[in-house]
Amino acid sequence: MKKISILGATGSIGIQTLDVLRCHPDQFQLVSMSFGSNVEQAVKIINEFKPEYVAAGSKEAYDILSSNVFSHSFSVGYGEEALAEAAVYKADFLVNALVGSVGLVPTLKAIEEKIPVALANKETLVTAGHIVKEHAKRYNVPLLPVDSEHSAIFQCLHGEQPKTIERLIITASGGSFREKKREELEGVTVKEALNHPNWSMGAKITIDSATMMNKGFEVIEAHWLFDIPYDKIEVLLHKESIIHSMVEFKDRSILAQLGSPDMRVPIQYALTYPDRLSLPSVKSLNLWEVGQLNFKKADEKRYRCLQFAFESGKIGGTMPTVLNAANEMAVEAFLNGRISFLQIEELIESSLNRHQAIARPNLQDIQEVDKETRAFVQSLLA
Ligand code: NAD
Ligand code: MG
Repeated sequence: MKKISILGATGSIGIQTLDVLRCHPDQFQLVSMSFGSNVEQAVKIINEFKPEYVAAGSKEAYDILSSNVFSHSFSVGYGEEALAEAAVYKADFLVNALVGSVGLVPTLKAIEEKIPVALANKETLVTAGHIVKEHAKRYNVPLLPVDSEHSAIFQCLHGEQPKTIERLIITASGGSFREKKREELEGVTVKEALNHPNWSMGAKITIDSATMMNKGFEVIEAHWLFDIPYDKIEVLLHKESIIHSMVEFKDRSILAQLGSPDMRVPIQYALTYPDRLSLPSVKSLNLWEVGQLNFKKADEKRYRCLQFAFESGKIGGTMPTVLNAANEMAVEAFLNGRISFLQIEELIESSLNRHQAIARPNLQDIQEVDKETRAFVQSLLA
């Protein structure tokens, strides 16, 4: 029985992870969890899965949760310390399904406690990839990808020699505005941006998909997870989201991983690796139903965020930290109706332009640059 901690249990990935646990009650047990502010959802999860530790995102959420009556007893906390505690409390496996750089410290804590981490929280690798990687290496702890593209690459690389890799091909659906030209993005609304054609996900990643920052982040994520230089990572537009990504090897052979677009598949693979368990609730893929698979080159001029991500990744140091922090602020401002869609990339570009990257930053440098970038974007918003 694997004892699982889920950070961000009430979110899109969190809920789908719980669904996987529900399919295999003899294999997995939820021992610990965190949630942000959705107390109602958290109460349902607590009653069903009976975790022993729960971290709430705020004092307010903690108070509302504590006013409920439960049939079993468990410990509760709130704030950043509780979040880090929830990552490791009696757990032997962590699923980090938080959104944003708030996921960094809990990931590092789990690694220090020698707990393997299934990482959905890609912002952790964008903001401080080298620290996470070095930590995982030092403590000899596996990092398992949850992102569908990285799970695909991970599966294609199973049993292969890293030195035989020629390039990684990360597929991209293109997000909500893939049929629109750049000029047509001027007046798009939050509602339109949140309408992703292939995946139902949290709000932040859905906007990141529309700007293609999500794909940019995935390039940085792949760089760190698989230790591949940026010039060997490519983005390929593939609107059906059937091929989840591919690897080309030295001998020109390309391996791809395919399946219905359903996050429970990569989530479960991270939980069971190197084993595979059945997952009957996911639709079996019939290629004759799909009929056609389409591919297009990703144009960096059309998708400026993709270009920002490649450039920031190549510069390295604290540049991707700025990219992530500015993006988190800008996306939140867009979701709150404070800026237009195209202003997201303007805010990010201004933040990147003023920053002098610090090479080999430590955790404190990262946290300072993150804070400073947020303050800068805040000043532009004001
Ligand atoms: P979501 O917004 O649906 O859920 C995020 C969870 O984190 C929620 O439980 C929320 O309460 C919690 N949270 C947010 N801020 C917090 C804070 N400050 N303190 C404590 N808890 C906090 O997001 P999601 O779509 O599930 O995405 C989670 C991560 O997985 C992201 O990094 C995303 O990029 C990645 N991801 C998601 C999908 C998907 O299909 N949803 C696919 C691939 C990767
Ligand atoms: Mg993805």
